[in-house]
Amino acid sequence: GIPTIFAITPTYSRLEQKADLTRLCQTFRLVENVHWILVEDSINKTALVKRLVTNCKVPCAHLNAVTPSTFKNVPGKRKLPRGVAQRNAALTWIRDHVDPKEVQGVVYFADDDNTYDVRIFEEMRYTKVVSVWPVGLIAGGKFESPMVKDGKVVGWIFYVGAHRRFPIDMASFAFNVQLLFSHLKAEFKYTVPSGTQESTILEGLNVTMSDMEPKANNCTEILVWHTRTQSTSLINQPKLQEKFKTVNF
Ligand code: UDP
Ligand code: MN
Repeated sequence: GIPTIFAITPTYSRLEQKADLTRLCQTFRLVENVHWILVEDSINKTALVKRLVTNCKVPCAHLNAVTPSTFKNVPGKRKLPRGVAQRNAALTWIRDHVDPKEVQGVVYFADDDNTYDVRIFEEMRYTKVVSVWPVGLIAGGKFESPMVKDGKVVGWIFYVGAHRRFPIDMASFAFNVQLLFSHLKAEFKYTVPSGTQESTILEGLNVTMSDMEPKANNCTEILVWHTRTQSTSLINQPKLQEKFKTVNF
């Protein structure tokens, strides 16, 4: 059959969570042979996400892994890395549940609030080592992208964070699942400089720039956007909440 796409999504409880996850799940429904690994940032799996997974009809491993309290984001404070414990739990799940001798596939980190053109999944599906492509609406600009010359990645177009080995976003690359088994210690880490989660995992997988396969028509097309869902302020909710107590949110 065709290679499996292991799509790893960290997710956390907030008003917009179900809306974001509904959109993501319905994106995956349009893609062949996706295995979704949905990891809640919570002490227990929640009823809301359990219901969503049951209704969504995409093969899904529903896990939870709570962010350690010292690394929880506090409003107003410097932004800490998000999704670290959850993505690591998903990598562990793959190593524990997938047989490297049987499987063909690719690993992709699909955050719950991004926007995906389903064609990006076909671009990444036959990745030999690591595939890369542009990401739209990111870092205060229209797009970031690998720089491609003669069909090879030769550098990066990005706005900030030149200290990074690979100045790219989580949504801009996918790698062959076999790398997880040849690099058993590759993982995300809280204790690395801000903005270097992508570099951390790619370095752990021993990837170099020459391994990178440019996709999306030599990185000339945007097939994923780093959209961010606006948080809702419930300014009018108190007026009505008594009448609508029973709504199954
Ligand atoms: N996330 C999480 N726990 C948190 C904050 C975020 O699991 O405390 C998840 C979130 O659902 C998303 C990913 O981590 O899938 C990246 O977070 P976010 O989209 O908020 O980051 P941004 O896009 O702003 O960099
Ligand atoms: Mn996001």
